[in-house]
Amino acid sequence: MREFTIVIAGGGASGALLATELLRQSPDVRVVSVEPRERLGFGTAYSTECPLHLLNVPAERMSAFADDAAHFVRWLDENQPGRFDPRSFVPRSIYGAYLSATVSQARIAAGARWRHVRALVSDVAVDEFGVDVMLSSGGALRADAFVVATGNADPAPWRGIPEGLGAGRFFGSAWDPEALVPASRDETVLLLGTGLTAIDAVLGLRYNGHRGTIYMVSRRGLLPHEHRVFDAPPATFPDAHTIRELMAAARGGPRDARGAHGNWRLAIDRVRPRVNALWKALGIAGQRRVVRHLMPYWSVHRHRMSPEAAKSIADLIAAGVLRTLAGRTGRMVAMERSLRVPVELRGEETTLAIEAGRVINCSGPEHNFRKLRNPLIRSLLARGLMTPYALDIGAEIADNGALIDTDGQVSTRLFSIGPARFGTLIETTAMPEIRVQARDLASLLGARASLAGAPV
Ligand SMILES: Cc1cc2nc3c(=O)[nH]c(=O)nc-3n(C[C@H](O)[C@H](O)[C@H](O)COP(=O)(O)OP(=O)(O)OC[C@H]3O[C@@H](n4cnc5c(N)ncnc54)[C@H](O)[C@@H]3O)c2cc1C
Repeated sequence: MREFTIVIAGGGASGALLATELLRQSPDVRVVSVEPRERLGFGTAYSTECPLHLLNVPAERMSAFADDAAHFVRWLDENQPGRFDPRSFVPRSIYGAYLSATVSQARIAAGARWRHVRALVSDVAVDEFGVDVMLSSGGALRADAFVVATGNADPAPWRGIPEGLGAGRFFGSAWDPEALVPASRDETVLLLGTGLTAIDAVLGLRYNGHRGTIYMVSRRGLLPHEHRVFDAPPATFPDAHTIRELMAAARGGPRDARGAHGNWRLAIDRVRPRVNALWKALGIAGQRRVVRHLMPYWSVHRHRMSPEAAKSIADLIAAGVLRTLAGRTGRMVAMERSLRVPVELRGEETTLAIEAGRVINCSGPEHNFRKLRNPLIRSLLARGLMTPYALDIGAEIADNGALIDTDGQVSTRLFSIGPARFGTLIETTAMPEIRVQARDLASLLGARASLAGAPV
C-alpha cells in the first residue's frame, strides 16, 4: 500500500500533538515534522525554564488528548509524585516535559514513520498530485498534505524605536532569552504591555535577580484577573448566551465576588466552548466592534493569571516596585546608559519621562498575517494560497482546518492547526481547542490516507 506523507511546519504543541494523533489513528501515514528547535512539543510557550512561569489554567484542564481528560494529571502523579493535585497551576517547564515525553513515546512507537527535519519551511507549491515543501536548509520535501502549525508569531516591531538603538537595551520580544536577564540588579525596566506576557517578564526578571523598579504600560493599563479554583459552583449563577450577556455577567461579577465566589469567572468559562460560534454569528461588522471595544476587557477576564502569579504581582505593586501605567509611549531617545521613553498618561495632560536601562516589548503575538515575517506565511500569502481574514487578524480557514485561497477555493492539501486558525476562530490558541483540532484533523487526514492507498 502506498504511504501518504504529511509534512507539518512547526513542532510546538500543535504540530507535535497532531503528529502524535495521526500516527496513533492511522497506519497509512508517514509524518515529517519540520521544526528548527531540537525538541518537539515545547514551542514558544513551554520552552521557558523559569519555575515561576506557571500554566495559566489548572492541571486538570491541560491533557494533551481530547479523549483522555486525566492524561496530564496521571502523568504528574507518576512523574512528580506528591507535588501537584488536579487543581495545581504547574510550571510550564514541567508541562513542556510532559508534552515532550508524550511525543517521544509516540515517536518511538512510530519508528521510521515519523521524521524530524530541523529547518524552517520557507515556501510551498501545490500541484495536482501533491505539495512541494521548500526548506530554509536548501532541501525540499514532497507531501500529499501539508499543515501550517507555526503557532504564536513574534510581537509586531514597536513604533518609535530610533535606528541603531543600542543592543542590550531594547528587546523586541520578551521570549528572547536575553530579555529577562538584567544587566544590573537595580536597573529600571519598562515593559511595553500589561498582559500575560508582561506578567511573565516581571516574574522572569525577579527570578533572575532583578530588584529595581519595573514599569508596565499599556493603553488602558489593565492587568489580567486572577484565576480562582472553586470547590463547588455558587448556588446562583448568571448564565450567559451572548457576548453582551457574558460581559454584563463579568461586569456584575466583582461585586458578587465578595460574597459569592467571584462567579463571573464561571460565567466566562461556561460560555467559552460557545465563543467561536458566537464570534461567527456576529458577522464582520459585529466582530470589528468587538475587536475595537470589547477585546481588551474580554482578554483580561478570559486570559487570567495563576493565583501564585497574582499574589507575586500584588506584593510587588504594594511594595512600590512594580507600577502599572495607562497611556501611550512616544519616541524613545537613547541616553548614555538608558533609554528615555515619554509616556502620555491616559486621561491626564501629563507626560511622564521614564529612563529605563532596559525596555522590553511585551505586546504579545502579532495577529496581522500581512505583517508577519515568517517566510512560510509570506509565501502562502504571496502565492494566493492563504487569504488574510477581513479584520486584519489571522486567515480565512474552513471548518475542517483547510486553507482557503484568494479565489475562495477550500484546499484539499493545505491545512492549519492552532494559532494559525486565528481570525476565523477567536478561541484557537489554547490546549483545550488545540487537542480537539489535532484529533479531528488527524481523523480527516487519516481517512484521506486510506482512500489514497486503496486499490483502484
Ligand atoms: C507564553 C505562553 C504561555 C501559554 N500558556 C498557556 C497555558 O497555560 N495554557 C494553555 O492552554 N495555553 C497556553 N498558551 C497558548 C499556546 O499557544 C498553546 O498552548 C500552544 O503552546 C501553542 O502551540 P503551537 O505549536 O501552536 O505554537 P508555538 O508554541 O508557537 O510553536 C510553533 C512552532 O513552529 C515553529 N515554526 C514557526 N515557523 C516555522 C516555519 N516556517 N517552519 C517550521 N517551523 C516553524 C516554531 O519554531 C515553533 O516551535 C500559552 C502561550 C504562550 C505564548
